[in-house]
Amino acid sequence: MLRDFISLIFPEVCLSCKAPTSKGESLLCTKCLFDLPKTNDYNRLPGLLANKFVSIQKLRFAYAYLKFNKKGVAQRLLHQLKYEGHQEIGLSLGRWFGSEIKTNSAITDSDLIIPVPLHISRLRTRGYNQSDLIAQGLSETLEIAWNKDIIKRLKKTETQTKKGKVDRWKNVHEIFQVSSLNMIENKNVILVDDVVTTGATLNACLEVVVNSGAKSVGVLAIARAD
Ligand SMILES: [Zn+2]
Repeated sequence: MLRDFISLIFPEVCLSCKAPTSKGESLLCTKCLFDLPKTNDYNRLPGLLANKFVSIQKLRFAYAYLKFNKKGVAQRLLHQLKYEGHQEIGLSLGRWFGSEIKTNSAITDSDLIIPVPLHISRLRTRGYNQSDLIAQGLSETLEIAWNKDIIKRLKKTETQTKKGKVDRWKNVHEIFQVSSLNMIENKNVILVDDVVTTGATLNACLEVVVNSGAKSVGVLAIARAD
């Protein structure tokens, strides 16, 4: 029944190339799934995405699943996820990424997955946080609990991009707030985001988690834009 319900919302065409999909394929046709522009960076530590971070003392790993190119497949999928209501894409991306990385013990040893929260006003407009869906897909595959209520976003937009790295760092506590310290203290936490561009948002999020006493922090993002 769920399957029927999903096929009602999702016409049976590939979400990337629009070719009809056959039975057994989901969201993407086999070719598009095979051609996903993976970074293939998930076995080395800490991962290439780590160079987007200012404070790396407690950063255990930072991986992006896909390369984000203008008009590329990652952009198409994330656009449909964020702006066209295709929530199933978030779950699938999380599951696909999860199955790529589940042999990396630095990841599977983690205690808790936390999606980067949206500001409440954006959450209300969109109706869901795309990073929650990605986190849910990752959580299922990696068998690590996820929780969306630990970090609260106090500021709506990423106004930090024009500031220098040091300034961004100073402003951290104004953007995010940890609401349950005891959930983070001494834990290996994984932060999840959809796409990393400047990294300002994730840097801010990582700082509050570190300042809240996390043992280590890892970052998993669906795409990395350079
Ligand atoms: Zn396709």
